[in-house]
Amino acid sequence: MRRKLVVGNWKMHGRLSTNTVLLDKVIAGVRELQRADYAVCVPYPYLSQVQSKLQATNIAWGAQNLNQFEEGAFTGAVSPGMLTDFGCRYVIIGHSERRGLFHESNEIASAKFDAALKAGLTPIFCVGETLAEREAGVTEQVVGKQLDAVLDCAGPKGLAKAVVAYEPVWAIGTGKTASPEQAQAVHAFIRQRVAQQDSQVAQALCILYGGSVKAGNSAELFAMPDIDGGLIGGAALVADDFVAICRAAQ
Ligand code: PEP
Repeated sequence: MRRKLVVGNWKMHGRLSTNTVLLDKVIAGVRELQRADYAVCVPYPYLSQVQSKLQATNIAWGAQNLNQFEEGAFTGAVSPGMLTDFGCRYVIIGHSERRGLFHESNEIASAKFDAALKAGLTPIFCVGETLAEREAGVTEQVVGKQLDAVLDCAGPKGLAKAVVAYEPVWAIGTGKTASPEQAQAVHAFIRQRVAQQDSQVAQALCILYGGSVKAGNSAELFAMPDIDGGLIGGAALVADDFVAICRAAQ
């Protein structure tokens, strides 16, 4: 039986003072929830803050991106080792905002995936189709290609050390959630695609759903057989909502 995981993606939100309030409420709300795993992925400047606030709790933390190189003349970039220095367990790779706004290709995403694994981080590897792609009926081709990019580079054994997040682009931050059945169908496709290479890895793989998950729809999504939790954007910034979603994963 796979353990559920709920990860908050703060994106470019937060300030020291508001983070303290949010974290204190989430820590208190999640403290008793022992049957699932929890994490928050925060902007780089707040890694030190979350490390000191979360280190003695049942909430892990991570970043939302990294650079694939270990060090060098890459102004503004952050290396995998810098993330482990701050106790990160997770790093989000290939989020659609990185792919779309920062032009990250499948090749870059898989190089980052590989670099994260080498540093001992758990990549949360995002895949998902746009609305135009869904309407054109090519969801499986798009998601399959994104997944193959890491399977080709890290293999199923690499994927075994990662988490996959299915995030339909049309559902991110739009309030339009995929129905549990729509999400389940793509999750089952992902698992089956991995199973073609390694059925044990596929069975154990944690596949999160992301895209307008809210307190009110999380339980029905998490009840689907191939949905192993959620990657939560907007609702992760509201303590009561995030705690309710964490509770739904129990
Ligand atoms: C995300 O950014 O990964 C996300 C799923 O956002 P939201 O929950 O706001 O749709």
